[in-house]
Amino acid sequence: MPSSSVRPVPLVLAGIFLAAGIAPATAFELRHHGAHVHGVSDLDVAIDKGVVEVDIHGPGINFVGFEHAPRTNQEKQALADATRTLKQPASWLVFPEAARCTLTSAQVADAGKPDEDGHMDVSAHYRFTCAKPDAITGFDVGLLRAFPHTVKVNVDLVTPSGQGQATVDANQSHVTVPGTSP
Ligand SMILES: [Zn+2]
Repeated sequence: MPSSSVRPVPLVLAGIFLAAGIAPATAFELRHHGAHVHGVSDLDVAIDKGVVEVDIHGPGINFVGFEHAPRTNQEKQALADATRTLKQPASWLVFPEAARCTLTSAQVADAGKPDEDGHMDVSAHYRFTCAKPDAITGFDVGLLRAFPHTVKVNVDLVTPSGQGQATVDANQSHVTVPGTSP
């Protein structure tokens, strides 16, 4: 996890989770990424000068259409396709051309390993460097197109001028960066 998106778990919350017998790491995941809701993914975007850090996290079903370990060739292919699409964020995360952003790192966590409850999560981390970061007045999130099992994306935005939240769904794929003028 990049330090920019890590927020400490409040002590009270941590205490509740500890009392409930849930490991602190799990508590953090729950709080940070919200519940595991099929169809809903989380996208964290942190813009700091010329560096943009992006995290995506969501139920496996959003990305491959199932959450068990792939069994058939078709399922193995679906997982390979999803991984390839995740490794090429340019197809679903578009910054303004004027910002001249280049992908410098893409790490896609191993998917295809369900937890003991039969659910599976997918996550990936990206870093872009942008020659003209002031030109990032917004960006387009094409995750519903790239991964049709996705119905909603909760976007968390951190910029030098503050924080913001946005929702991407079938009606809205553009996220405006607060404090910028398009
Ligand atoms: Zn699930």
